[in-house]
Amino acid sequence: MTTSGASAPASPPIRASEALQKKLAKIGLHSEADLLVHLPLRYEDETRITPVNRAFGGEPVQIEVVVQSNEIQFRPRRQMIVRAADDSGEITLRFFSFYPNQQAALSEGSRIRVFGEVRGGFFGAEMVHPRFRKVGDNEPLPTEMTPVYPSTAGLANSALQKLIGKALVVGDLSETLPDELRQRLKLPGLARSLRFLHTPPPGTDLDTLHARNHPAWRRVKFDEVLAQQLSLRRAYLARREQGAPVLVAQDDLGARLLDQLPFGLTGAQLRAMAEIADDLAQPYPMQRLLQGDVGAGKTIVAALAACQAISAGWQAAFMAPTEILAEQHYLKLKDWLEPLGVRVAWLSGSLKTKAKREQLAATAAEAQLVVGTHALIQDGVDFAKLGLAIVDEQHRFGVAQRLALRKKGNNPHQLMMSATPIPRTLAMSYYADLDVTVLDELPPGRTPIKTRLIADNRREDVVGFVKKHVEEGRQAYWVCPLIEESEALQLQTAQDTYEQLSIDLPELTVGLVHGRLKADEKQAVMAAFAAGEIDVLVATTVIEVGVDVPNASLMVIEHAERFGLSQLHQLRGRVGRGKYESSCVLIYAGPLGEIARQRLKIIFENTDGFEIARQDLRIRGPGEFVGARQSGVPLLRYADLEMDADLVEMARDVAEEMLTEHLELAERHLKRWLGSREELLKS
Ligand code: ADP
Ligand code: MG
Repeated sequence: MTTSGASAPASPPIRASEALQKKLAKIGLHSEADLLVHLPLRYEDETRITPVNRAFGGEPVQIEVVVQSNEIQFRPRRQMIVRAADDSGEITLRFFSFYPNQQAALSEGSRIRVFGEVRGGFFGAEMVHPRFRKVGDNEPLPTEMTPVYPSTAGLANSALQKLIGKALVVGDLSETLPDELRQRLKLPGLARSLRFLHTPPPGTDLDTLHARNHPAWRRVKFDEVLAQQLSLRRAYLARREQGAPVLVAQDDLGARLLDQLPFGLTGAQLRAMAEIADDLAQPYPMQRLLQGDVGAGKTIVAALAACQAISAGWQAAFMAPTEILAEQHYLKLKDWLEPLGVRVAWLSGSLKTKAKREQLAATAAEAQLVVGTHALIQDGVDFAKLGLAIVDEQHRFGVAQRLALRKKGNNPHQLMMSATPIPRTLAMSYYADLDVTVLDELPPGRTPIKTRLIADNRREDVVGFVKKHVEEGRQAYWVCPLIEESEALQLQTAQDTYEQLSIDLPELTVGLVHGRLKADEKQAVMAAFAAGEIDVLVATTVIEVGVDVPNASLMVIEHAERFGLSQLHQLRGRVGRGKYESSCVLIYAGPLGEIARQRLKIIFENTDGFEIARQDLRIRGPGEFVGARQSGVPLLRYADLEMDADLVEMARDVAEEMLTEHLELAERHLKRWLGSREELLKS
């Protein structure tokens, strides 16, 4: 199968004035097909008219009245007050902003239909800013519910309704699911479903429509998820048609690395290693996500993959999202590999000019492994022969950045690593184009981390606890609160905490690390902490990812209620890495909001990152998990990964089937749902 395939014709653009087109484009509407799948948020019932004297009741209603008077008041603020009536009673309409044409439409004697909620005002029944329309005598009522569409400023619902109405008549509503398949899945036809959702007949139960579990909604949601599956699956297959360096080890470098490790690999690490080794030896680029809870031991697996590339005569790159983490990897990999004769280079933004020039020259020539931060993907960095690109904490990078690293070679293999476990439904949808390896086993001898929740009025106890801990020969982290509104404030807090702890614990050495330090200052502090010269390290979340100091076995987190779940899990994962009993103290300040309370409960009760992620998805939705991967591409608009998990599973199987047996339908399906956005999904 080829990527471009028998390309389906593009859907015609929307016919509208340039100004209108611009507004439509703002909400992603470019073509007729886009209009057809732009579905209502909710519906209003304008098929009936309610007499004014029965219009109370909290529900929005439609009334038909004749304007009796219209006056502009200036006190207490400028407003237009319209008094109107039908045979049953009088009502006041109040507008705080209005255009002259609206004022004209509401002049004395005008007959209008008004839609909105009636409440009791100072002058009796009143509607504030209702939607209204001037009508003639005996104008027929609409026979369908009024759909209310997602929109943007200056784009009237009625304009959308008109355009979509037209598209429903002239547009392409052809079926893209083979009949047999559709019947097997028990889904209604597409044309019928779309017509129904855009224009539900009067009497339709609005509650099932609004709850989105009507069969028509299921059909639409299935189509949406299917488009996503088709696109990802196709990208996956297309990748297999590109060539890539075949990395077959030519010596025993990997084995020698294993020999000199002070530990043996876990079963999970061995399995991961075998899978990756196999991928690297294929003539098409690997694109594998190595997932494993914090501390599962991903680094060594990556190092072994690098050995295979190096041994095959190619270079490997290892990119990490923060300076601290990248340097730690550099030191560790150098430590492991230089004794085996491997030349390791280091690129970071903080290198001085001369050192940088040397490292760049090495990268372009003899270096076999290049470790670094984003500095790896800058212009002017040339690799001699990049065969394998490794990206640690991959969710911290954007699509463009990962792509940029790949571009440094000619279709290199790619190994991505993440400690953020991805719940199953999410993996099935957003990561369907990747191969995933899970390290589902922690190295032996880890002592479980004890988690405690302590209210902030007992901070003194915590300080005492830290003291005792250090007296036993261990070290501790003290993480300062996240202050989202202000980085300056966050810095100040870290500084204050550092000073306060230095006073509270005069016999201990307290250190401070935060994002504003210069790179070499940061490195110096981290090195001192790793060497045991600092007892208590006060830090902002810069230490969140990857940092590994086995002797540090106490983690204190202040204002834990402000952190997200995966952040808490990551931070907690900084301890419990050595042979010592470890603990994590979460200091919280009340009163706790409902979500914060749930989060703390989850982190207190669970240590398994996978379970924590699942619960996180339940509270937060998928947006944050996939992060930058989908930048520019809307997340699923209609389907919900938790609620519609069955649809995701169905769609995954169907995608496979359509790509082999109904390619032309698959193409049309993709065009309808993704249009021009498809390219973005492929990176
Ligand atoms: P992560 O998966 O979070 O990146 P690391 O690769 O940093 O984890 O590993 C965490 C710690 O565990 C490191 O100190 C590493 O050397 C050690 N480690 C890795 N694999 C094993 C193993 N099989 N047995 C014992 N220790 C291991
Ligand atoms: Mg790591």
